Amino acid sequence: MHADPAVEVTGLVKRYGSKTAVDGLDLTIARGTVTAVLGPNGAGKTTTVETCEGYRRPDAGTVRVLGLDPVRHAAELRPRIGVMLQSGGVYAGARAVEMLKHTAKLYADPLDVPSLVERLGLDSCGRTTYRRLSGGQQQRLALAMAVVGRPELVFLDEPTAGLDPQARRATWDLIADLRRDGVTVVLTTHHMDEAEHLADDVAIVDRGRVIAHGTVDALRGTDSTLRFDGPAGLDLGELRKVLPDGAAVTEPTPGSYRVEAALDASLLAAVTGWCAGAGVMPDKLAVQRRSLEDVFLDLTGRELR
Ligand code: ATP
Repeated sequence: MHADPAVEVTGLVKRYGSKTAVDGLDLTIARGTVTAVLGPNGAGKTTTVETCEGYRRPDAGTVRVLGLDPVRHAAELRPRIGVMLQSGGVYAGARAVEMLKHTAKLYADPLDVPSLVERLGLDSCGRTTYRRLSGGQQQRLALAMAVVGRPELVFLDEPTAGLDPQARRATWDLIADLRRDGVTVVLTTHHMDEAEHLADDVAIVDRGRVIAHGTVDALRGTDSTLRFDGPAGLDLGELRKVLPDGAAVTEPTPGSYRVEAALDASLLAAVTGWCAGAGVMPDKLAVQRRSLEDVFLDLTGRELR
């Protein structure tokens, strides 16, 4: 395991004319991890990733990828990183699988092309030209091209956008395998469930900066909300007595109760035990942990999408 990070972005600024797309962004990604870069449209995710890939030059700040400058050391990095762009970068008239075979030949120790093709459900489009593939097939081909060379680090820009559930699952499985093989994966996504399912770390980007970075668990915290319905006007002072310090109990609308506290099975037992003692049958009892959406809302006061 390498001590140096796979990606180190410090104070990155990137402007398009008068528009500042990335505004002093800092991000460090450890080797062998899957990091999801999450944020609303226009937050600067793609620009940041494209700068790491060497496609854009920073206006200020520094970017290091596997310890190298992605613009100056582009040739050295090319065989070591895999890139899946949101669109383009592919000759539209070329046949899908031939293109993949051709790409594989550029690497010293590529993955087996037929099994990759089968895994990603591309076997039916072997002789089809890129431009005639469906959007989802084009995307899966782009993913295959990004990983076929067994890169140390892959950048995947919205790898599952627009995919059907089966293709999405195949993509998730492939990313999980990359992680198992020690590959560092940086992916952008709008899907909270994708980040929660795949990522070791999540970096939340808003207005060109990283506003939160950590494990999904750390970002979501341990607080949860327990809700139940019952008769209106229960004695909340009495309920509070059986709950741990710091728990908040409210009745936002008559007969509807909310307990906010650290997630713990004993909390549920305390609430249901108190209800039993008070002769109350809690209806629609539910415990919900804060989602990444809630985290974003708390940080910015806005919805993620
Ligand atoms: P999305 O989730 O929609 O892909 P994003 O977080 O990836 O968004 P970017 O694509 O990096 O965001 O865009 C950041 C900002 O920079 C946006 O306001 C976008 O309109 C602008 N932008 C991006 N590329 C260009 C460009 N080539 N020329 C001008 N403005 C651009």
